[in-house]
Amino acid sequence: MKKSIQLHKKYFTQNKMPDKTGHFGDFGGRFVPETLIYALDELTREYARAKHDKKFIRDLSYYLAEYAGRPTALYEAKNLSRYLGINKVYLKREDLLHTGAHKINNTLGQVILAARMGKKRLIAETGAGQHGVATATVAALFGLSCDVYMGEEDIHRQALNVMRMKLLGANVISVKTGTQTLKDAMTQALRDWVTNVRHTHYVIGTAAGPHPYPEMVRNFQSVIGKEARRQILKKEKRLPDYLVACVGGGSNAIGLFHPFYNDKSVKMIGVEAAGKGLSSGKHSASLGAGAAGVLHGSKSKILEDQFGQIKNAHSVAAGLDYPGVGPEHAYYQQTGRAKYVSITDKEALEGFKLLTLVEGIIPALESAHAIAYLKKAKKIIKKNSLIIVCLSGRGDKDLHESY
Ligand SMILES: *Cc1c(COP(=O)(O)O)cnc(C)c1O
Repeated sequence: MKKSIQLHKKYFTQNKMPDKTGHFGDFGGRFVPETLIYALDELTREYARAKHDKKFIRDLSYYLAEYAGRPTALYEAKNLSRYLGINKVYLKREDLLHTGAHKINNTLGQVILAARMGKKRLIAETGAGQHGVATATVAALFGLSCDVYMGEEDIHRQALNVMRMKLLGANVISVKTGTQTLKDAMTQALRDWVTNVRHTHYVIGTAAGPHPYPEMVRNFQSVIGKEARRQILKKEKRLPDYLVACVGGGSNAIGLFHPFYNDKSVKMIGVEAAGKGLSSGKHSASLGAGAAGVLHGSKSKILEDQFGQIKNAHSVAAGLDYPGVGPEHAYYQQTGRAKYVSITDKEALEGFKLLTLVEGIIPALESAHAIAYLKKAKKIIKKNSLIIVCLSGRGDKDLHESY
């Protein structure tokens, strides 16, 4: 095992959350049909065993390093820092991973767990197709069959990712119910899981869903923050002043934040998608403009209308286009441990162009929200600050949006 891949137990338990019932304060838990409790209990038990098991940790470390390309660089973006007039901005380069984003950290963890549990089939839901591709990738790697639920609308919008999944041997199942988008795909995937739980593992793509998913996905993504913490201490001999990351369901952000939880001097800023503006109603800012509620099996902040119907989220960044957010973020917001802001489509596109022009790095439009916030927050962030931004993915997929 490479020493540089850090999966130590102490980073899994920074805030002793969630509790035994899967709650982060008021948020999280399990709001699912009785028939799913067995599957969730089994998963909780198996994961609790695996995370302390030497072989599991060795296997995961191996694939993270040799297959996905960890550790990723912590790059000092000198041109960007100079442009912004900020002392130092470092980029955590998750965009350099195999498949081009942080999602592979989680799908690798879950597939190794599924294989260990003797499961022969993976299912997943996908909106823009990025999580579907990351799941199809590890299914191919481990020789498991893979069905990905995707709304009929999204299948049309994301034809390239549908081709990728098919090429990787996955079966893409069109969901024609409801609004034919992500939230309907997630409902169908949960239904499939209830019926086929004996041989099937459901791979959730972000730090949301019923317990144990938020904890498990957070732990798999915490490799981001563990590496970043060690790297910044080595380069700067001190901790950063700010961590900044975009928030869709919240997995790349919680992965960066969690290992710094007990470092009280480190401020955390999550950047949601304000879409066409919070007042337009066309946005994905569940923390900034949503209310407490239940979605996809757990309690968190969600976007719903006056009748309690889940609203359609909007963002130019497909990966942020989700009407909920992981429960740990709702907890960090409530307790003030992290602050959540939002960036419009227009501002994100400016961030996208800025990073591309000054650093020669084309960011994913999701990650561009975090970059754009730095520009907007020049007055709030002190000039002498040391900042780490999570560059969650690369932007090749977004070229058509940015012209
Ligand atoms: C999916 C995705 C996101 C949003 O998901 P989180 O769970 O909030 O991290 C962000 N960036 C990229 C590049 C993505 O693919």
